Amino acid sequence: MKAVVYHGPRDIRVERVPDPMIEAPADVLVKITTTSICGSDLHMYEGRTGLEPGRVLGHENLGEIVETGTSVERLRVGDRVCVPFNIGCGYCGNCERGRTAFCLTMNPLGAGAAFGFDGLGPYNGGQAEYLRVPHGDFNCLELPRERALKENDYVMCADVFATGYHATELAGVRPGETVVVYGAGPVGLMATHSAIIKGAERVMTVDRHSDRLRLAEEIGAIPIDDRKAPPTEQVLDLTDGEGADRGCECVGYQAHDPDGVEHPNTTMNNLIGSVRATGTLGVVGMFVPRDPGALDEIAKRGEMLLDFGALWWKGQSMGTGRCNVKAYNRYLRDLIANDRARPSFVVSHELPLEEAEEAYRHFDARENGWTKVVLHP
Ligand code: ZN
Ligand code: ZN
Repeated sequence: MKAVVYHGPRDIRVERVPDPMIEAPADVLVKITTTSICGSDLHMYEGRTGLEPGRVLGHENLGEIVETGTSVERLRVGDRVCVPFNIGCGYCGNCERGRTAFCLTMNPLGAGAAFGFDGLGPYNGGQAEYLRVPHGDFNCLELPRERALKENDYVMCADVFATGYHATELAGVRPGETVVVYGAGPVGLMATHSAIIKGAERVMTVDRHSDRLRLAEEIGAIPIDDRKAPPTEQVLDLTDGEGADRGCECVGYQAHDPDGVEHPNTTMNNLIGSVRATGTLGVVGMFVPRDPGALDEIAKRGEMLLDFGALWWKGQSMGTGRCNVKAYNRYLRDLIANDRARPSFVVSHELPLEEAEEAYRHFDARENGWTKVVLHP
């Protein structure tokens, strides 16, 4: 089959690899019809992880079941499914608690497994014609029959819509509250969309790319351009000097200044500064325990200078981590099915899988207009 294969920093190639096969009785094989490129794919693309060459990328996958293992009971050949980026077993303590992003059995290196991801197990991704999904009955989300029309919406339930929603859950967003979202990439835009769906009185979304800020504004947020003035000042001005009730961090460790110099603590400290005393922070931007490609020794160790004194002084609380997609994806699917959510508004490009190399290059360069790419194998 054809697949997007990692060869080294900024070197991915669409090439032929062996077809995946059923390896365990609970596996299913999915013929991928829609798969998207994620901001977290870029960490690997840029060579900022230990991903070994030869791995197939892609953790935002949707397609049709073409084969099932002998113990699969729920799914049938022909079912259309969206596959969460997490791989859970369904029976460990964390899966039982709904924390499928931290499954204790699927990754020999630690808690949490995912498709096509460094450090999250040996699984190939779905930027390919076919994908093997372990524990298919547990992991796959069935899609309604009319879903073919909304593949670009449903595919967002594999990661970014769920992750953006998770940010608002970790932050405890409730109707009538004010929310600040750092980052208007796909996850930040999904957090913005989610906060608005939840009935936030006002959502302020911080970025510096005009295409992304325009999208935030189009869905009803107040765009905050951090090139114009410090974003904390702008948020305080909009909230009578008090700060937002809730804050979402959707940028992660590669936060950088307008000149492109990385400061992994920028958005965290801005978040603390622009959320009110006793407010809550939801941090879903990716941070890593080790970052060998970082600029300085502190960041190389996955550490940062955090305004912890300010956080403590303000009595803020914080939730962090990868999204447990299965905790939300059926509800998000139903919001889409009933036209209450339309996450495909982030999609700027729909391309055949063969154009993945070009797509990665444009998306990695944050070129104007390249907000989210979906690929159709
Ligand atoms: Zn993703
Ligand atoms: Zn598990």
